[in-house]
Amino acid sequence: MSAEAIAAAAGEGDGGLGAPPALIWPERGSVFAERQMRLRQLAPGHAMDDFLLFMAELAQVQHAALQAYAEVPLPDAAALERAQQAGLPPLPAADWPRDAAWRVSLRSMVQALRRVDMPEGMRAALDAAGRLSDDALERQADCLLTGVMHGVDLATAPLVAAALQVHWTQLALGLHARGWRPRPGAASAAPAGRPLAPADAGSCPCCGSRPTASLTRSTGRASGQRVLQCSLCSVQWPLPRIQCAHCMATEPVYYQSLELAQAGADESAGRAAQAVVQAECCSDCGHYLKIMHRDRDAFVDAVADDLATLTLDLLVSEAGMQRHGVNLMLLFGEPEPASQASREGR
Ligand SMILES: [Zn+2]
Ligand SMILES: [Zn+2]
Repeated sequence: MSAEAIAAAAGEGDGGLGAPPALIWPERGSVFAERQMRLRQLAPGHAMDDFLLFMAELAQVQHAALQAYAEVPLPDAAALERAQQAGLPPLPAADWPRDAAWRVSLRSMVQALRRVDMPEGMRAALDAAGRLSDDALERQADCLLTGVMHGVDLATAPLVAAALQVHWTQLALGLHARGWRPRPGAASAAPAGRPLAPADAGSCPCCGSRPTASLTRSTGRASGQRVLQCSLCSVQWPLPRIQCAHCMATEPVYYQSLELAQAGADESAGRAAQAVVQAECCSDCGHYLKIMHRDRDAFVDAVADDLATLTLDLLVSEAGMQRHGVNLMLLFGEPEPASQASREGR
């Protein structure tokens, strides 16, 4: 049984009709390993095959790093309680003090990648990442984790981000091991407009980051539910289907897929309805988030399939839509103004 099947069968967090399903925690042994396999599956014949294969190598070293990660400090019981009371995530991406373990891990990931065959441009990025000082790495991390793109070195960003992903996944696993779970209703104590509150279903209850994409999940009782996958700590949290992850509106949501754009008018409806990856677009706020259907392809991975469907981003951005999802492996597009990013805490 998969983790979600077990969670569903156990009724964890499924406290009766209408209760939201529990968080789905990443699994140490598979979260990056399965991404690596998916990237290798998607690469052959893809226009970005070299990039996807490099990302597969990166996921491979992320997997190795997570298997033997150093013990890192976690919030104590009092800090967890304070965060719950304030409606704040316990491991906020922007504020949680980063243990030096993440830099140690990054440097060993870079060393491991040096042994891999790869295009020259990617090797240059590896060399550059290997030369960054502790201070420079911390500054890059600050930029990536606060969503302030000014000052981000785009060449080394995927490597820095990969190490941060492993670090926050380790933190999330530690929180899970302590039995932490967001307390329903705790956010109501938060000041109005507090953006990182767990009540804000569009950001991660664990670290406050935006999702990469949403995934439908089908388990016996939980057919057709969907979860959003955190771009940083790999936790998945529930959001009702057909709801904008940016503004929470429901009515103005519609779906766009590449199949719809490419197929003839007569065959388009059927093929679009079968698309594994769609853009869930909101005409209210003008944002979209990709939705990936596991019931149509069981091997879907939020990060991998997002990277492999960039043409879908081009399609919907031509229509003026803004991306809600964040993929730390590929930062692109016009960043939000820094003032807004910091105000929203994203
Ligand atoms: Zn998170
Ligand atoms: Zn919206």
